[in-house]
Amino acid sequence: MGVELAYTDAVARATDGLYAKVAGVIPAIEWPVHAPLIAAINRLKHEKNAVILAHNYMTPEIFHCVGDFTGDSLALAREAARTDAKIIVQAGVHFMAETSKILSPGKTVLIPDMRAGCSLAASITGADVRLLRQKYPGLPVVTYVNTSADVKAQSDICCTSGNAVKVVEQIAKDFGTDTVIMIPDKYLARNVAAQTGVKVITWEGACEVHERFTAQQIRDYRTANPGIVVLAHPECPPDVVAEADFAGSTAAMIGYVGDRHPERVILITECSMSDNVAAEHPETQFVRPCNLCPHMKRITLESILHCLETMTTEVLIDPAIAARARIPIDRMLAIK
Ligand code: SF4
Repeated sequence: MGVELAYTDAVARATDGLYAKVAGVIPAIEWPVHAPLIAAINRLKHEKNAVILAHNYMTPEIFHCVGDFTGDSLALAREAARTDAKIIVQAGVHFMAETSKILSPGKTVLIPDMRAGCSLAASITGADVRLLRQKYPGLPVVTYVNTSADVKAQSDICCTSGNAVKVVEQIAKDFGTDTVIMIPDKYLARNVAAQTGVKVITWEGACEVHERFTAQQIRDYRTANPGIVVLAHPECPPDVVAEADFAGSTAAMIGYVGDRHPERVILITECSMSDNVAAEHPETQFVRPCNLCPHMKRITLESILHCLETMTTEVLIDPAIAARARIPIDRMLAIK
């Protein structure tokens, strides 16, 4: 297979409107490289009745130009369940594709690169969770969505970085306990513990992107950029979060910028998100720390096009595990 990938007049006509969305973050000289791929992906998507779910950490040419739905992992999984499309292409990492498949078992879920993993998801297995349960009998297991289906299947409830405090408090109440097990992100767990009276037992997992930020870096950014607003993701170490003006999920950070229009801001999270938010908020100046997620960056326009052309690689989950993994997700979704 394979399509003609020249920057023709027809390609320019089909993509000029998209370039207007990203002109502030993609130099014009790069556009003729991206545009033919974007045009081919959007055509194939239409022909095959496929949708692309693009995570906030995708590069702008993916996020703004081929993504049908964009957002954090939970928002994308919800869209996966809602869409009428038969085929879902997950422009994100493997656990996200699994979550889409769990919530949409009847749809074909594809990931452009099976190697797109996650240090948090890789830090723990279902067998580890069973051992934790033996060690702490009776305590509820709260599992961050950044985990495999196998781990979710062993859990009582899932959480996101946006709802973790609420989930921990609710499940502690439901189980009549003052202590919960929260896996696998030790930093998210500590940041949550600091906001609630519930005691949290955690796991030694960490996001390899967010754990690289340091409190000293934040102080240095403030010195170099007086008056800057610092927004940090709760996967960062607690001393980094303590230096920030606001800590929240990617969706919460986007909401902060959209609602408050800070003059200058720094998002302490994966690099591409600043580009994606900056494209929509030209009134705000973004200082961009550049910690890239190597897993997210495996997803490219080229790999998305190949995925649609060849219908590879399909994400499959043992139906019994998928059914069990859905329970803690649904339990989380039921919390208002
Ligand atoms: S940014 Fe961190 S949590 Fe997100 S996929 Fe990459 S390693 Fe995993």
